[in-house]
Amino acid sequence: MNLLIIDDTQSDHDITVEYLQEAGGDYNFFHAYSAAEGVDVYSRNNIDCVLLDYNMPGKDGLETLQQLTNFNRSVPIIMITGEGNEFVAVTAMKLGSQDYIPKRILTPSALKRAVERAVEHSEIFRKMEKYRLDLERSNHDLEQFSNIVAHDLKSPLRAITQHLKIIKNKASDSLDEKSLMSLGFAVEGAERMRLLIDALFDYARLGFTEPDFELVDMEILLRHAKRDLLPMIEEKNAQITNSPLPQITGDEILLLQLLENLIANAIKYCKDTPRIHIDAVREGEFWRVNVRDNGIGIPPAQHKQIFAIFRRLHQSDEYPGIGLGLAICSRIAKQHGGIINVESEFGKGSCFYFTIPVNAANPAAAAEERKAANG
Ligand code: ADP
Repeated sequence: MNLLIIDDTQSDHDITVEYLQEAGGDYNFFHAYSAAEGVDVYSRNNIDCVLLDYNMPGKDGLETLQQLTNFNRSVPIIMITGEGNEFVAVTAMKLGSQDYIPKRILTPSALKRAVERAVEHSEIFRKMEKYRLDLERSNHDLEQFSNIVAHDLKSPLRAITQHLKIIKNKASDSLDEKSLMSLGFAVEGAERMRLLIDALFDYARLGFTEPDFELVDMEILLRHAKRDLLPMIEEKNAQITNSPLPQITGDEILLLQLLENLIANAIKYCKDTPRIHIDAVREGEFWRVNVRDNGIGIPPAQHKQIFAIFRRLHQSDEYPGIGLGLAICSRIAKQHGGIINVESEFGKGSCFYFTIPVNAANPAAAAEERKAANG
């Protein structure tokens, strides 16, 4: 291990070397007798750990510490402080020092332990940083990849749909009924594939983007959802009511998607005039948002399964769909630190609900609040 000692006193260098050799360990010592020399030696060598004396003439130890941490090498630096310098020690830790040892407790084993611990910590930190960067890079690659795939799949599909429509328009007089029907199925198939690509892309994108947390007024959100779903609402004459809704913390676009999916399903999976009621109740540190309908209901055995990707309980000609809506809702709820579930009696309607932590933007603060609430 390459160990750099920055200290203006020769006897301190000697003691440090003696202590570390006495405690056992394979060290290669580098010596610097001023802050400037220390920074210079550090910059030119592959140092594994630095022992830095706080009390040196000229430059303050904290300033030297900052210069060393500016190299961004995640090499551990241990500050050696004199008597009554606890404040300095705390500041040093804040500035990136791994540890500090007051001179009065300097013993061979304490010094060796401190060096080993600091190097171990830095290695863990370096590994974590590497994983974080790898993850960031692969998320970015994945995002690029799915953007390209979505684009490359959609453009030929658009061409197919357009040409099929042209044929249908131009040749409808000369084609027999069977051929026209086939052409209609082909256009429908292409349209369904476009919906599938969009939904799959939405689903995949949720895996690599972080929610953008802000304060969201649920009543405004519901108004937007109703506006977006207006054609469907009017077509089925759906009645949508709500109790007073709270402000919650979350990603407005994702929460809108979640709410719209649930309301759209409530309208779709209903044989009578859809009557939907939305309310929210506070349950501890969570808001539980309920979307109740008077629809066809879901048999108990299917309650869990419907949230899985591509899981559908009906044929497309009975109720159109691709089986991704609830999987997307489930991802959105999870991304917000909540869950999604359903209570339903087959034939009598369903209540889909999701929970959102009151403080979704800050899970640590939410956990603290929860702890405080539980005494
Ligand atoms: P899709 O609606 O495209 O099929 P979803 O993932 O949104 O996909 O829903 C999965 C399945 O769950 C649906 O096919 C349907 O069988 C069932 N389902 C969803 N919402 C409701 C509801 N409100 N009432 C009854 N069944 C529902």
